[in-house]
Amino acid sequence: MRTANPHDRVVVVGGGIAGLAAALHLAPLPVTLIVASPLGEQACTPLAQGGIAAAIGADDHPALDAADTLQAGAGLSDPDVAARVAAAAPACIEWLVAQGTRFDRTASGDSLILGLEAAHSRRRIVHADGDGTGRCVLDALIHTIRQAPSIQIVENHRVTDLALDGHGAVAGVVCVSGRSNENDEPVLIPGRAVVLATGGIGGLYAHTTNPLSAVGGGLALAARVGAVLRDLEFVQFHPTAIEAGTDPMPLATEALRGEGVVLINGRGERFMQDIPGAELAPRDVVARAIFAQIGAGERVFLDTRHVLGDRITSRFPGVTALCRDAGLDPVRDPIPVRPAAHYHMGGIKVDDQGRSSVEGLWACGEVASTGLHGANRLASNSLLEALAYAASIADAIKGTVSQRLTERSLSPPLDTRPSLFGQLTPDLQQIRPIMDRQVGVLRDGAGLQDAIGRLRALMRNGRAAEVRAAGMVGLMIAMSAYRRNESRGAHQRLDHLELRPEQHTEITLGQALRLAAEIDETAAPARRVA
Ligand SMILES: Cc1cc2nc3c(=O)[nH]c(=O)nc-3n(C[C@H](O)[C@H](O)[C@H](O)COP(=O)(O)OP(=O)(O)OC[C@H]3O[C@@H](n4cnc5c(N)ncnc54)[C@H](O)[C@@H]3O)c2cc1C
Repeated sequence: MRTANPHDRVVVVGGGIAGLAAALHLAPLPVTLIVASPLGEQACTPLAQGGIAAAIGADDHPALDAADTLQAGAGLSDPDVAARVAAAAPACIEWLVAQGTRFDRTASGDSLILGLEAAHSRRRIVHADGDGTGRCVLDALIHTIRQAPSIQIVENHRVTDLALDGHGAVAGVVCVSGRSNENDEPVLIPGRAVVLATGGIGGLYAHTTNPLSAVGGGLALAARVGAVLRDLEFVQFHPTAIEAGTDPMPLATEALRGEGVVLINGRGERFMQDIPGAELAPRDVVARAIFAQIGAGERVFLDTRHVLGDRITSRFPGVTALCRDAGLDPVRDPIPVRPAAHYHMGGIKVDDQGRSSVEGLWACGEVASTGLHGANRLASNSLLEALAYAASIADAIKGTVSQRLTERSLSPPLDTRPSLFGQLTPDLQQIRPIMDRQVGVLRDGAGLQDAIGRLRALMRNGRAAEVRAAGMVGLMIAMSAYRRNESRGAHQRLDHLELRPEQHTEITLGQALRLAAEIDETAAPARRVA
């Protein structure tokens, strides 16, 4: 194994908003930024349409923003985290402006235009290029980062393992070239600290808005070194992915409903009218209502015609283009939609500064569980969370680096375990339908048990290493859902519609494997009888 860039640097993994913001905030510390693809591709960040929540309107206050976050989180959002992130939002927006992001402004140019999204009590969504926020933000950060002298960018390299030092602390990463990892030698990149910013898990589901590469790779890396993962069962299904026969599915942003666009079924009926909040109810409520219509044999549409008419082309140019690519004319036709896996509230458990339970390992962005989102994420809170935590992580690493270096050297041989990853293009077709049907919008104990058995088998016997890793992540999500015997936020158990006292689920890989083996043993006699 070759060793590159020895010693004294921080390794950041991921080229979305979380990775880039962390790398920039870490300056002047030397950073190696590793991204599986060319920068700007295969990440959720450029797909973000709605924008970034920030309480900067005259009628708004961070306390109101935090209260909306707590309300959406269904009892599991941490009030301190919500208050801290909401308070940090105006500075995060200013920071992005300083990096070159051009947010949409009023005609005079004096103030930012603020959009409204579901479950926000005020207009507070800052956006850029209409519905092109994520792309604009990412382009600005990429431009800055390419000129940052402290940051070495390693594109098209995929981290396959975390390296441990002799004390069990994470002390680097192993990566392979994304072009042809079959023959390439793995490269070991040591680091004082590793920040995982690897994004979400939507690609594990048959219907998703995420890039198909978003299969929880960061969760697998962290789980394998013993990190505690939290609230993995909370997967947000976006209610209005556009049904256009594409995989992944394009998104019709919530901001459309914020502008008054309504949902109708195939008979032209508004089925959300009598539900509290109507079309602007929390995402899980809208997703389940649409799912129920689909279950009853209906198709569901977003009807923009009366509220927006041809204004949709200027206010929502991205959605308009996506529709037109799919052969739809949103000025004249209602847009067909359905729920799709969109965002993972659960993740690597981190503290207030983004530190995981394993020394030397940090997590930022969607891969982390900070306590902000609880059981359901409030719209436009994830870009904000990544920005707020990137700054905290950088401050904390700057404060702790010298201590670690003097206390312990990297001289003990690094322990790199055999990689679970191997192939670049995963064949996840065996996993995706299981996740969709049994770990999806609606769940029950029997279905989850069955999913656990199947995912365990794929984890153990999957032909490609990446299928085995994805099976492991799917198994841990299914196991967490199985253990939560209640319905809360995005997690709806048909066999447990009740609410129980509020608590988080925490799981390690070791626990998940033990529990899965027990479940399999219990199910085995039943299978033999059948
Ligand atoms: C369609 C859509 C619309 C959205 N709209 C909004 C919105 O309006 N507002 C909002 O706040 N949120 C929105 N979200 C959610 C938000 O975009 C994401 O939560 C956020 O961008 C995640 O950022 P991230 O940096 O954590 O991950 P990502 O942006 O997904 O980046 C992950 C990066 O990690 C890299 N990576 C992964 N594994 C490895 C590995 N093993 N080795 C090397 N690199 C690796 C990937 O290549 C990628 O570069 C939306 C999401 C989607 C899908």
